[in-house]
Amino acid sequence: MQKTMDEYSKKRIAFLALHAHCQARLLNCTLAATDIHHKAGRGENHNVISSWLAVCRSCHTWIEMNPAEAKELGYSENRLN
Ligand SMILES: [Zn+2]
Repeated sequence: MQKTMDEYSKKRIAFLALHAHCQARLLNCTLAATDIHHKAGRGENHNVISSWLAVCRSCHTWIEMNPAEAKELGYSENRLN
């Protein structure tokens, strides 16, 4: 488990370095990506970068609070489990 988290931490830092700006651009967006939203959830796809979205805290909160709308916008996928 520790190994998985180390790998995740490295990928996370690299991903946010590559995507410095928020990719969601929703209401009240601050533009500065600080979080990673996992479009396919945090299960088996946790380390799958193609399911990641760099987001600011404001957009991340909105996505978490509005799952149906986020899915329509393509920010959330059907969870596998
Ligand atoms: Zn944003």
